[in-house]
Amino acid sequence: MSPGKNKKKEKQTISESPLPNPALRTRKRVVLDFPPSQLQTPVTYILAKEYDIASNILRAEITPEESGKLVMEMDGLPENLEKAIQRIKDSGIEVTEIARKVIFDMDKCIHCGACISVCLAGALKLDHDFHLQFVEPKCTVCEMCVPSCPVDVVTIDL
Ligand code: SF4
Ligand code: SF4
Repeated sequence: MSPGKNKKKEKQTISESPLPNPALRTRKRVVLDFPPSQLQTPVTYILAKEYDIASNILRAEITPEESGKLVMEMDGLPENLEKAIQRIKDSGIEVTEIARKVIFDMDKCIHCGACISVCLAGALKLDHDFHLQFVEPKCTVCEMCVPSCPVDVVTIDL
């Protein structure tokens, strides 16, 4: 096969397997309650290996009865986070999600629109009067808008 044909094949393979856009990743905070029988379950390994989820353990406790509790943040694609949480629940570990949401202080917003361009989820737009609109159901809490605001009116409520 000529080098030109090889190049064409390589190009096709790449376009058939697009990498996930890292900007679409989001984070969830969860509390995991391990029964004694599941204390050895390698949760962080499973999350990384099977679901491409990075985990950050914020607190870990083992009680005298040898059950365990982990508070951790998971970072991954929304669909992978949902599947991973279900997988952990199915293994007998109790999972409680800690709600996080984005807060816009509209009294201080100058409606510059800078946050709109970084919101790939489409949760931000300007209305007919050029005022910022936050469509919260579309928000994946990716936090991209937080550093984009020149007047620091976007915060994350943990
Ligand atoms: S509003 Fe902010 S946190 Fe929510 S999806 Fe858009 S950029 Fe991400
Ligand atoms: S970047 Fe900040 S000031 Fe500008 S529209 Fe968004 S929230 Fe408002």
